[in-house]
Amino acid sequence: MTEQLKAYIAKNELTYCIETYGCQMNTHESEKIAGVLEALGYCPVAQKAEADFIIFNTCCVRQHAEARLYGNVGALKDHKDHVNGALIAVSGCVMQQKDAAKKLMKRFPFVDIAFGTNGIHRLESMLYDALIEKKRVICVDEDETIVEDVPIRREGARSAFVNIIYGCNNFCTYCIVPYVRGRERSRHPDDIIREIEELCKKGISEITLLGQNVNSYGNDLSADITFVNLLKRIDSQTDIKRLRFMTSHPKDMSDGLIECYGSLKSLCEHIHLPVQSGSNRVLQLMNRRYTREHYLSLIKHLKARVPDLAVTTDIIVGFPGETEQDFEDTISLVKEVGYDAAYTFAYSKRTGTKAADMENQNDKQTMSERLTRLNVLVKESMRDRNRAYLGHTVEVLADSPGKRGRSEISGRTRTAKTVSFEGTLEDVGQYVTVKIDKVMAHTLRGVRV
Ligand code: SF4
Repeated sequence: MTEQLKAYIAKNELTYCIETYGCQMNTHESEKIAGVLEALGYCPVAQKAEADFIIFNTCCVRQHAEARLYGNVGALKDHKDHVNGALIAVSGCVMQQKDAAKKLMKRFPFVDIAFGTNGIHRLESMLYDALIEKKRVICVDEDETIVEDVPIRREGARSAFVNIIYGCNNFCTYCIVPYVRGRERSRHPDDIIREIEELCKKGISEITLLGQNVNSYGNDLSADITFVNLLKRIDSQTDIKRLRFMTSHPKDMSDGLIECYGSLKSLCEHIHLPVQSGSNRVLQLMNRRYTREHYLSLIKHLKARVPDLAVTTDIIVGFPGETEQDFEDTISLVKEVGYDAAYTFAYSKRTGTKAADMENQNDKQTMSERLTRLNVLVKESMRDRNRAYLGHTVEVLADSPGKRGRSEISGRTRTAKTVSFEGTLEDVGQYVTVKIDKVMAHTLRGVRV
């Protein structure tokens, strides 16, 4: 089957283009889809219009994004009519939802393949059925067994994502993820270490460990396999220079993890710790299972270990039942923490979650006003935190050309600050020492020293 498929792809010089929606987890899953396709001989193209195979890798976290997706899929009918033999697939979280794939295939008869988050390793046989057997294919696998050694085409030359745990057991009341991605399943640490060692050999020096809740890593394996032990193994057994992780749940953050900061040389001085709200009443409605006081004490302990630690977060405003006083509690928490950045969202109703059926939904105007007020504060906080870098030298891992043209290069510090400096494309992938001479809310600028 593989050889016949490869011969067909090579003979027709087939190309692919993936459009990815959603979080880092989805971005990484697109890297796996690309890896499978390139192992079969497909070549990437940047524009959908030039592709023989278009894949929409979807995200179902926000309902309006899902609605927009269907509009985008509908627009592909013309492509199908104009490119002889073109294939169209829709994958990801949206397809993993009950009956979603069947409904999509019925509504869009020109879509050839629909597959869920558990189906990437079956892509080869799906393509065989679609390309050789000329069938339409649905693959929404209930089997959540972790499949190792799926080929991956990494986007970055120096940085890479590594999944350590899939699924989520938390059931925050606004979130659809546990219903779609299933219960927590951890990869075996030996598989993770092996993957990281192989990445190091290929020149990767910065890793971000991925999971919906990395702190739960190992809970489904044996007692001695924990997230802290995994971090210690990566730090001591591999050549990784910068180690990051996301996302971390405040209720599961252990003293052991806090102690890793400042003691593991590779662990970067940055943590993304989603708070969601500064009001205990709202946190309870969200089923977050920690209090404002607990969250603040975590920040205090982390900063006691690494005073310059960069802290970023996620915040939802306008959750059902959130009052002006609750929102003021969020504002005061943001002031107290002094975030380096925050991803802020107005609450968006997601069918299938408990919060969607809650009373006292806030109106759009209230949510939008609160979001604006919060964003002003976050921007001030970001600028304040960035001011501390003025005149200091930082190590930047250069990752891309900057926004101002070819002579500007952009990269990241260990604290996840974006820094731009004058350089050349040869700097991309290198560690460059930069002295900061200008700070904005979102970026720092400097000169190479
Ligand atoms: S921890 Fe909460 S917000 Fe994060 S994926 Fe799980 S249920 Fe969703």
